[in-house]
Amino acid sequence: MYADVPTMFLAIILVGAVLAFSVGAVADRRQRDGMPLWAVGLAFHTLAYVLFSLRGQISDVVSIVLANTFLSCAVATFTEGLYAFYQSRPPRKLIWLPVILVLLVFSLLLDQLVMRIIVGSLVFIAQCLLALSLMWRQWRQTAGRGKYFLSSGMAVMTLMLSLRVLGAATGAASAMVSLVQSNLMQTLTFLGALTSLLLLAIGFVLMSKERADQLNQIMATQDDLTGLANRRRLNEVLASEWARASRSGQPLGLVMIDIDFFKGYNDRYGHQAGDDCLQRVARTMQTVAQRAGDLAARYGGEEFILILPDANTSAAQRVAETLRASIEALALPHTASPREHVTISLGVAVLSEACYPDVESLLRAADAALYRAKDAGRNQVQLAPAALQHAAPAKLVQLIWRSAYECGNAVIDGQHLQLFNDINTLLGAMLDERQTDDVAMLVQVFLADVVQHFEEEETIIKANGYPGAEDHARQHRQLLEKARSVTERFRNGKLARGELFEFLAHDLVARHILIADREFFSVLRS
Ligand code: GH3
Ligand code: MG
Ligand code: MG
Repeated sequence: MYADVPTMFLAIILVGAVLAFSVGAVADRRQRDGMPLWAVGLAFHTLAYVLFSLRGQISDVVSIVLANTFLSCAVATFTEGLYAFYQSRPPRKLIWLPVILVLLVFSLLLDQLVMRIIVGSLVFIAQCLLALSLMWRQWRQTAGRGKYFLSSGMAVMTLMLSLRVLGAATGAASAMVSLVQSNLMQTLTFLGALTSLLLLAIGFVLMSKERADQLNQIMATQDDLTGLANRRRLNEVLASEWARASRSGQPLGLVMIDIDFFKGYNDRYGHQAGDDCLQRVARTMQTVAQRAGDLAARYGGEEFILILPDANTSAAQRVAETLRASIEALALPHTASPREHVTISLGVAVLSEACYPDVESLLRAADAALYRAKDAGRNQVQLAPAALQHAAPAKLVQLIWRSAYECGNAVIDGQHLQLFNDINTLLGAMLDERQTDDVAMLVQVFLADVVQHFEEEETIIKANGYPGAEDHARQHRQLLEKARSVTERFRNGKLARGELFEFLAHDLVARHILIADREFFSVLRS
């Protein structure tokens, strides 16, 4: 059964008009994505078929010459649209020369049906191949699957035209142009035209959508200025790397970076130069963090982060040191800095063997190490205490008080010192292998001191207007809760002495005082 020719014409005209209208309605002229050109191309296509269908009722010049020229314009406009989509300059002559050729061929060969079909179809084929070759060149850079539809549409059109050339050459030319005769050639031609029309339009719209999705994805995860991962992406990657490292037991290195005296840099050289400087630092970070899985991110302002999966303390430290030296080697002038060029300070923290209970505490540890790098004169790398401890593994270590741990408030400093002494007394009892009851009693004394200290510290930081006082008090409550359950397990014989000590000395005293407490030091010191 062969399709009815007038019905097929109607179908193509209707589908083409609906597509032209729909694509035109969603096209945005400001976007320069080729969509408006595709709407015009579809309109040309529809118009061409309207004229074809009027064959015999209007002059041949219009229904043959003009109609084919419109069809050629449609393909040329699609190609222009593709160039616009790829944002490359269209070769105007190459695109529009075939249109003139079609006009000439059909005008000059109006009376020679066979030659008209053969030469005209060959020109159309050349037009399709031009569009296909452009797509082929851009194939890899084109996101998504729309490209498969569009190129299939072009391929179907090429195939159909080739069939027409073949048909005309083998003497079927008159059957191919008949409006009343339903035959195999006409049916194939119209089905091919309808299929290619749908594939072309759907393919192009899909390509535009997929590219917009890709751009959105980039914008949602990339920092505008530096092109590094933004804060949102950082959080995502950090959470997944954290989970992976916790599961596998592999280390996870974190380097926090802050440009030294950057406010002074902006003041001296202007905000634009400041932006350039941020970009230079970002580029250097990318060259340093090159292992698969490494991530360089902008944490905010002039602070950056490197996530180094599987990097242990010495590896993370090495990367940090390389970065520090590379920035120094850039020798960017910075007369507002004592070193007279741009430098960075870095803090390193490494998650290994559950040193940190959550991502936030790992970040806080790196931040505290960075703070110490600033304190100790900038342009240097400092390791977080846990990282230090991991470098020299020892479960039972004495805590040694240093003046750098003081915050300036006599009450808090005195109590911190007292807690250090409590821990050392406890350590002595454990090393002497004293009875569990004795140790439990010392732990009791120690916890009483902790409770009193936490209470007073909360009052003091609140009175001094520390904005994070509430949050800090919450940390206290959590620590105490954990302390109670840990001592309970110790008393019931479910926890080894070493582990009890590890928690009390490391989590409760060293980490809390050396890292978390530092956050309010600046408030008390000022
Ligand atoms: P320190 O050595 O202690 O880190 O001192 P600093 O001056 O670098 O630190 P501070 O945090 O006081 O200053 C950070 C400055 O970074 C202030 C702000 O103007 C600048 N900054 C933050 N974001 C941007 C940005 O996107 N572009 C530019 N040009 N400057 C920024
Ligand atoms: Mg800063
Ligand atoms: Mg800074």
